[in-house]
Amino acid sequence: MAKMTVKDIDLKDKKVLVRVDFNVPLKDGVITDDTRIKAALPTINYILEQGGKAILFSHLGRVKTEEDKAGKSLKPVAERLSELLGKSVTFVPETRGKELEGAISKMQDGDVVVFENTRFEDVDGKKESGNDAELGKYWASLGDVFVNDAFGTAHRAHASNVGIASTGIPTVAGFLMEKEIKFIGEAVEDPKRPMVAILGGAKVSDKIGVIKNLIPKADKILIGGGMTYTFYKAKGMEIGNSLVEEDKVELAKELIAEAGDKLVLPVDSITVAEFSNDLPTEEHTGDIPTGQMGLDIGPESIALFAQTLSGAKTVVWNGPMGVFEMSNFARGTIGVCEAIANLEGATTIIGGGDSAAAAEQLGFADKFTHISTGGGASLELLEGKALPGLEAINDK
Ligand code: ADP
Ligand code: MG
Repeated sequence: MAKMTVKDIDLKDKKVLVRVDFNVPLKDGVITDDTRIKAALPTINYILEQGGKAILFSHLGRVKTEEDKAGKSLKPVAERLSELLGKSVTFVPETRGKELEGAISKMQDGDVVVFENTRFEDVDGKKESGNDAELGKYWASLGDVFVNDAFGTAHRAHASNVGIASTGIPTVAGFLMEKEIKFIGEAVEDPKRPMVAILGGAKVSDKIGVIKNLIPKADKILIGGGMTYTFYKAKGMEIGNSLVEEDKVELAKELIAEAGDKLVLPVDSITVAEFSNDLPTEEHTGDIPTGQMGLDIGPESIALFAQTLSGAKTVVWNGPMGVFEMSNFARGTIGVCEAIANLEGATTIIGGGDSAAAAEQLGFADKFTHISTGGGASLELLEGKALPGLEAINDK
């Protein structure tokens, strides 16, 4: 499944269309976190160093109506990008038209143009999100080659990724996209063993596809987080007021049967009477008493998970072990982070919006080989699904 990357094509004097992920958080027109812009710099700089002209575009937030456009312009992003690159960046406040075409025709090698939020095209008939063929063709007509570096949208077929690529324009991956495919792809399809998957988070229903795909591939699957209690219920255990998906209990039974001793459930929980950080907590082995809810895995589980992880050569983690946002219920997630930090020579990957946030917040971000930036896209890769944005990139 090797895909072509920016390194495999000639960029000199080329108008290079680059789909980036500039979907940054904004508050009152100010960028509150520029991680995604920084993450795109290696690809952008490489294109400029090679003598290409970089035409950048991205979606930003959800835009369905004319009113939604307020505060969703990419202009502040273009300004921040200019600061980070240390050179001027031309922002074009439209997604198509004379001004955009004029700005591109004036570009010299090494110039950068950013055009407006691709989702502004959704106001008039969902042209971007619905992968309108004419829109993809128009955008493709603006450049010579297409670089897709937006992994976070690779699980969607939009005009700005699949639409452009399907016109036949040479389409390659940027460095971010390449890294995601390499790490997640290899971890799932050809892992160094033993391979341990850790799945947590709130709900089983979000992770069913991942669990199913990983049962035959992983050597062990550790389960934590809220989904623990649907598995407990499936085993006939008491769960008190813990999170449970009644309609997934049967499925949990099937997964337990299918996975056999590969599946490792927590043996104890940290519980509390209400979803709060201000009430006394209790520790319970096995069953959760009436009136209590399990919000984290307990110390025996941390020890069990650490023991199961020891010697692992590949670790894939999606979903925190507990409600890490509250200090009383962060220890399970911290414990698993520590166990992973202690591994030697292992490829360790953490993905998912909250999981990545947990690794950052708890101070373990640099302990992982790879933190996947695409929430939905990384889940779908872990599920073994074909991602349309990825499929549309030319094979080597
Ligand atoms: P990700 O975004 O990494 O895929 P999820 O969205 O699936 O992760 O799950 C993250 C959420 O799960 C966190 O907000 C966390 O508080 C919650 N969570 C973890 N353990 C529990 C639990 N035992 N009960 C309720 N919620 C939980
Ligand atoms: Mg989440």
